[in-house]
Formats: sequence, structure tokens, C-alpha cells
Amino acid sequence: MTLTVSLRIDHPVVGCIGSGPRLLAKARACAEQGARIVWLGHDDLPNEAPASSVLSTLPEPGNSLLRVDYGLLLIDTGVAEDDTAWIARVEEGVPVWSPADHPSARVQFPATLQRGPLRITVDTGGRWPTVASWLRQKLDTLLPEGLGDLLQQMIHKGDLSERLTTPHQRRSFWYRLLDGNLVARAHQMPKAELSDALESSIRKAASGTVKGEVFLVGAGPGDPDLLTLKALRIIAQADVVLYDRLVSRDILARVRADAEMIHVGKQRSKHTLAQDQINQRLVEFAQEGRTVVRLKGGDPFIFGRGGEEIETLAEAGVAFQVVPGITAASGCAAYAGIPLTHRDYAQSVRFVTGHLKNDTCDLPWKDFVQNNQTLVFYMGLVGLPVIARELIAHGMPADMPVALVSKGTTPEQVVVTGRIDSIVENVEASEVKAPTLIIIGEVVKLREKLDWLGQSVSLN
Ligand code: SAH
Repeated sequence: MTLTVSLRIDHPVVGCIGSGPRLLAKARACAEQGARIVWLGHDDLPNEAPASSVLSTLPEPGNSLLRVDYGLLLIDTGVAEDDTAWIARVEEGVPVWSPADHPSARVQFPATLQRGPLRITVDTGGRWPTVASWLRQKLDTLLPEGLGDLLQQMIHKGDLSERLTTPHQRRSFWYRLLDGNLVARAHQMPKAELSDALESSIRKAASGTVKGEVFLVGAGPGDPDLLTLKALRIIAQADVVLYDRLVSRDILARVRADAEMIHVGKQRSKHTLAQDQINQRLVEFAQEGRTVVRLKGGDPFIFGRGGEEIETLAEAGVAFQVVPGITAASGCAAYAGIPLTHRDYAQSVRFVTGHLKNDTCDLPWKDFVQNNQTLVFYMGLVGLPVIARELIAHGMPADMPVALVSKGTTPEQVVVTGRIDSIVENVEASEVKAPTLIIIGEVVKLREKLDWLGQSVSLN
């Protein structure tokens, strides 16, 4: 059996005998943690040896490898008998790692994830190294990029309990910090700026003036796998979530279990909360000191009125962050097998709102009828007859290919294709459901060719 413990090494020098890939990985892990690496019996440093490594001679036969020289020995010559012979020459008390089956080779390396001074290890007792590295990768994707730099900087702030005297203050400081903006940006900030920002967070926590913040998060078009890592991280820590109709159940299931959930609707002409009420609620929740997530379908800045929401937040002095999402055009195009641009067919793509006010046709139709351009209409189902009519009236060839993607990227995705002069009939016949996205252009033809992708075949 194994016990998972950490080894205190007073003399952080790691001796290496051999140079196999496993040994090199271990040597690098030790160097990352600050150990000096000494290569014994090598003429040159092995490729991929840690930069700070040095060379040294092997002890004469008959002499042992001493504790005073090495805090840890890594032995992997590639020949099991040679490894065993070396292990036999190690002074008792020096910890040894070696792939050789020897009672003295007692050190194992758990899978390790290092973020600055923080070290996370996954230990399966050496049984399932693949499980350990799988889990390590999962954890890696969950941790914000700036965590290491932020903690490194926190070391310089000394003992927090002197300034944040109550456990509540300390907890709220750490939660705010780790869930907040700063940890996502710390690795990109100059050290002095980061230090100042931390200083002001500590001061705020000490004076009890902690404010909430708002995250405007793009949830993507439907498939929860299309959430960004950042979106996933933020919805897992929200206190309150305001979501609209387009956000799928599967995505809502990933929100922190005890978060307050508020449906703010937005069905065509049936808004559950008016936009200015939503804006106001965001401000109020944040002012109560909560972490507020405004979860929107697709990308918040593409036909999402994200701009208006942040304007209100900015006016009220509420801290906010926008997390981009995969917009419906990207998601639906990919899952329907339609590239939006293509060297031969389209050099540009245009995202257009098909939400026509009172059926007026005040869109620049002439600009839409151009060679080598793909048009993507959002919110276009109701207006489709007008859209088709106007495009043809402004010179679009009647046989221009069109695809309408309903509930794109979800298991209920349906793709209806046709020509611009027949698409309205085809759509009526198929009784598709909202939300739908309309893609118009030569690129739609490529769908048949690319059908081997399988995604579109299996999804409709
Ligand atoms: N911010 C969103 C768009 C909001 S407008 C984004 O970036 O995707 C709402 C319109 O988006 C819908 O009317 C529809 O045209 C489109 N849409 C969103 N999700 C969709 C989906 N899964 N399938 C098809 N169209 C979708």
C-alpha cells in the first residue's frame, strides 16, 4: 500500500542516474518545485533536462550515494539489474524513485498540477496513471489562468489574519478573490498593478465594503459542450442567475445548485421582464453584494442586447465582466455542415437581424445581394416570406441555396434546405420550431458534400 504524504527535504538536491523519459518528467517536476537537479555520470545534460541542472561524477564502486548529497534520488537506467545495483548503493534514509521493483524504491509521484505556489496532486496509489492524468487535465481546465500568479503575489501580503481578523472576513475575501475578475487576468497584469489590486481587495474586505458583480455570460447555442470553460466556471459559482428562454435545460443544470434562478423570458412579443427591468434587477442584486450571472443564448454581444445591460451597470458603478459565447451562426453552421465562408463561394459573411419592425422592409436589401457573400438571418422565421421576397426583388437569383436550422446544436436540430424562391413552402411544410437560423448563400450547397461529417446526418 501507499500513504500519500509530502516529503520535507532540507537539502533540495535531486540526483538522477539514467535519462529515460519517465525520469526526465520526474526531474522536471522536482525542478519546478525548486529542487536543484544533478545528473550523475553523464558527459552532457540530457535533452529536455531542466535548465538549472548540473553534471556530476558517479561515486567510485564501493562508495555509496549519501544522504548529505541528495534529498532524493531518481534511478532509471533502462536496465532493471543496473537500477537494482544502484539502489543497493544508496545510503539508508535517502528516498529513491525507480521503476525497478526494489523494496528501497519507495517514492511515487502523484500526477501534479502546479499553479504558482499551489500544488494539486492526484494519487491513485500508482494503479491507474491514466486516470490520474485525465483528472489532472480536467482540473487544469477548471482552474482560472491567473491563479498561480495571484497566489504568488499573495505570498508577499504576509499573514492575512492580522488584517482580516474574523473568519467571515477572510472567507469572504478569498471567495470574492477566487471567484472574481482578478484571477482571470492576474497572469496578464504587471506585478505592481496586481499587488495594488490585491491590496485594495484586502482593504475592502477589512472595511466590510464588499460589492457584488455581474457576469454577462454567453451560453452558446444549446449544446452544453459548447459552453466555454470560463462560462462553466462562472455559472458554477453564481449566487443568482437571470436567464432567458434560449438557454437550454442542460446548461441550466450546470449552475450552482443553490443559486437563485430567475427566468427573464424574451419570447417574441412576450417579454417576461422588460429590458429596463432586467437591467435594474442586475444592478440591485449586485448592490446586495451578490455574484450575479446574466446568462444569454449564444454570444451576449450578438443580437443579445448585452450592450444595453452593461451600459446600465457602468452608470450604476457596478463591476461587470462579459464572457463571450459561441453564437448561433457558428454553432448551427458547424452542426449542419455548412461552412460560412469558403475560398470558392463566399469571402464574407453577414449577420443580420430578421426581426422586422411592423413588417417594414427597412433593411439595406441591395447590400445583401452580392456575389460571394453568405447571409445569416437571426430571428428570421416570422419574417422569412418578406426576406425571401425582398432578396429576389433586389436581384438575388431565384435558385440561391438556403438552409433553415431549427434548434441548432441540440438533439432536436432540424435542417430544412431549399432555394430562395421555394424555402417558404418547404419551411411551412416541415413545421419547424423556434429558434431558427437562416443561412443563405452558395456555401449551403457544400452541405451535401460535407454530410459525411455525420453530425448533420445524425441530428436531423
Ligand atoms: N445572442 C444570440 C442571438 C440572440 S437572438 C447568439 O449569439 O446566438 C435570438 C436568435 O438567435 C433566434 O431567433 C435564432 O435566430 C438564433 N438562435 C439562437 N439559438 C439558436 C439555435 N440553437 N438554433 C437556431 N437558431 C438559434
